[in-house]
Amino acid sequence: MTALAEAIAAEKIGGRVWFYSNYHCNLQCSYCLTESAPLVKRRELGREAILERAREASALGFTGYGVTGGEPFILDYMPDLVAELGRELPTIVLSNATLFNERRLREIEPLADLPVHIQISLDHPDPVENDEMRGPENFRKVVEAIPKLVERGIGVRIATTLDDPDAADPEEQERLCELHRSMGIPDEDHVVRPVINRGRAVSNEMGVLAGFEQLEPELTLTADGAFYSPFAPTVRGGRLDTDLLVSRTTSPLSAAAGSLVRIADDLPAGHDASIGIR
Ligand code: SF4
Repeated sequence: MTALAEAIAAEKIGGRVWFYSNYHCNLQCSYCLTESAPLVKRRELGREAILERAREASALGFTGYGVTGGEPFILDYMPDLVAELGRELPTIVLSNATLFNERRLREIEPLADLPVHIQISLDHPDPVENDEMRGPENFRKVVEAIPKLVERGIGVRIATTLDDPDAADPEEQERLCELHRSMGIPDEDHVVRPVINRGRAVSNEMGVLAGFEQLEPELTLTADGAFYSPFAPTVRGGRLDTDLLVSRTTSPLSAAAGSLVRIADDLPAGHDASIGIR
């Protein structure tokens, strides 16, 4: 067993390595951690870099992959890339599910035979409230896309992001759960998590603070280096936040992973991340 595999087995760091495939997005949500929008700097990691790092990660003992952005499926190579990742290790891709036209749906059909889940954002059971944060027509597009994925046998999870989950109306939450169940998504595949006060959520005064002490260490690779958590490489005012940067380089992966383990080792005794919400 490698030293890294031992750190994962001991739960010092998470077993999943995350890839920020890109930072641009067709949407512009009010709480977006990365200030994503159609015309922002793309910060694309690149297909070959992702595959190379993924192979290293698997050899080092990581147990899963995650892909996030921006919107990953805005990239034409994403369906093939996710299939390649899924053939190696269980993979989760975070998506807004608004780009699944007939062509994309055909392209992602091979994912049905692989340990791949697409995690889709759906925040509210009512279109008006949902679209307030995520943009016009978002609710309609998402509830149309999910059954198309489910009927193709593709794994789907739903992620609900709320400004204050503890203050959520139980009746609304129950209606949201009825909605996802009606689309074939069971309760165990529905996660509810708070808005994190980073990125665009800062300007909109939303969410909870999150730093080393609140976040679970999960190696997260971007075009600009390796970070402590998928909630770390955020953007504010167009500039990348580096307060949770682990390493400027991601190659070799063993060095970036070693830096993450050392940071995790240095956290105060009794540290227990309180926002493990992917
Ligand atoms: S939260 Fe997700 S879907 Fe919304 S703008 Fe950001 S990357 Fe795009």
